[in-house]
Amino acid sequence: MMFFENAPAKITLSLDVLGKREDGYHDVEMVMTTVDLSDRVALTSLEVDHIAVSADNQYVPNDERNLAFKAAHALKNKYHITQGVRIDIEKNIPVSAGLGGGSSDAAAVLRGLNKLWGLDIPLSELADLGASIGSDVPFCVYGSTALAKGRGEIIQELPPPPITWAILAKPNIGVSTRVIFNRLTLENITHPNTTKILNAIKKQEFNELCNHVGNVLETVTTSLYPNVQRIKEKMILAGAKGVLMSGSGPTVVGLVEHQHKAVRIYNGLRGFCDEVYVVRVIGHSNTC
Ligand code: ATP
Repeated sequence: MMFFENAPAKITLSLDVLGKREDGYHDVEMVMTTVDLSDRVALTSLEVDHIAVSADNQYVPNDERNLAFKAAHALKNKYHITQGVRIDIEKNIPVSAGLGGGSSDAAAVLRGLNKLWGLDIPLSELADLGASIGSDVPFCVYGSTALAKGRGEIIQELPPPPITWAILAKPNIGVSTRVIFNRLTLENITHPNTTKILNAIKKQEFNELCNHVGNVLETVTTSLYPNVQRIKEKMILAGAKGVLMSGSGPTVVGLVEHQHKAVRIYNGLRGFCDEVYVVRVIGHSNTC
């Protein structure tokens, strides 16, 4: 039997770091949502007790290092499942881009195998299991809009944000999340106002939301890759209302109200930046 699961990219609307913990992780506060740029994960049931994984992208490992493999392995272990699975990933989300592609693939495997194997595990339990694979996996299990706290694994679901269109612009560099967090110094950082972001979502106020988007990791990533700052400036000049870097970068997100404006900004950025996308913000659980 074969099954397809959608794995949408996530974008951050705000990313704050509150402190460093004794376990080496940072305490974060992130507001995240999903967009319609998705990987497609095909799951084929195997009679033998084996996990095989392949992705059509040279930067993604086809072995036990793949987060999708780790997800299947964790699920099999926890629930003592002896069936196997072949996982084929069509990568559409750029890799090491700050768009959570690997985490979303892992979450899609958890959701998909839950159905393929008729396990009936609640999403909250899949999300807990996802936290052992990566900090962003619990958010991706829900695939909606959420405030993520702790190291990212404490999820509070939110209504979809008052945004319909976004432009994603990724320069031709891959960024390691670990490297960026390690270089972050907590002194003298400007924190985004998460409460204002949450209020803007609650009141469905697009302009208010755009005024408060922010990411404390931006200064670290732009100090290493100044191009990220240039793309941000270009997006602001082109008229995007809210502009910020997603996750640890390097992808820059521009928020706009209308599709025609998104397309105009897209056309202006194409010659300047290697990968540019116009996406719709989904923001609710519509992951299949
Ligand atoms: P985040 O925003 O959650 O920090 P990211 O978008 O910056 O993540 P990913 O594309 O998820 O980064 O990949 C980061 C690393 O994980 C890469 O080194 C990649 O080789 C590895 N990886 C393992 N499995 C996958 C997968 N299924 N898809 C993409 N990358 C994967």
